Amino acid sequence: MQPETPIQATPAAAAKKPVIRVRGLTKSFGDHQVLRGIDLDILPGETVVIMGGSGSGKSTLLRCMIGSIQPDGGSIFMFDQDITEMTEEQFDETRKRFGILFQSGALFNSMSVGDNVALPLRRHTSLDEEIIQLQVKIKLEMVGLRDFADLSPTMLSGGMKKRVALARAIALDPKIIFYDEPSAGLDPITSGVIDKLMRDLSRNLGVASVVVTHEMDSAFAVADRMAMLNEGQIIKVGTAAEFRETDDPLIRQFVTGAPDGPIPLRRSKTDYIQDILGLEEES
Ligand code: ADP
Ligand code: MG
Repeated sequence: MQPETPIQATPAAAAKKPVIRVRGLTKSFGDHQVLRGIDLDILPGETVVIMGGSGSGKSTLLRCMIGSIQPDGGSIFMFDQDITEMTEEQFDETRKRFGILFQSGALFNSMSVGDNVALPLRRHTSLDEEIIQLQVKIKLEMVGLRDFADLSPTMLSGGMKKRVALARAIALDPKIIFYDEPSAGLDPITSGVIDKLMRDLSRNLGVASVVVTHEMDSAFAVADRMAMLNEGQIIKVGTAAEFRETDDPLIRQFVTGAPDGPIPLRRSKTDYIQDILGLEEES
């Protein structure tokens, strides 16, 4: 199936054709419908932050977009091809064109920092070792760690490990980078460094970035556009400025981190009094 594309009159307009186009995406785990029809476009070179409360389905959406879980319905066009309909071989090719920085994207401690960054180049290209070493140097320089190639990852701080993982994520010069909670577990200064690197990479390399985060400072620091996920649907997409100025009470509460508002503090399905008194719920 091909996505519907309006006729692109000029090269400039054609250049803005989305690199990702999510349509009607649904996903359930058991009887819990986590994604209820997601539509989202990611344009070349832009940074889109996906926000939403814990458990709202951000990681699930991201994992569908990188092909690590299969959605129940809908489509995900990446570079104009629906990844949900690809064979494994087709997806392997697409896979080389995006990078991932996940919390779980740990480095291999048995390898040097440089070899960690070289890994995708060794696995997916037939480049000469000299060229690979040059690429490793360039990528490590981009994250400010060119002198650390020979060290073991075990000798690095958490923030430095993230930066090496980022260098590895850009090893194959991806057109898209996916980040899941990139500053989780980092102190504010280190997470500010990661934010700056994300901005620099998207500017210098022209990559599109899809960032999942619930940290508002980080979201506003990197976002060109934002998308807010709530109860399995995207309830607002807009620029960072539009989110800052929104009148929508739910989004305002989220953006300002206020404890009171439409998002309830307590989210129990059962009645509290009945629950603590051990009463059966009446049906
Ligand atoms: P977020 O990243 O926004 O915190 P997730 O996408 O991780 O949320 O999860 C959304 C919901 O889906 C949660 O209720 C979570 O428990 C559930 N979920 C996620 N992955 C699985 C899975 N593999 N199996 C069952 N439930 C899952
Ligand atoms: Mg998550």
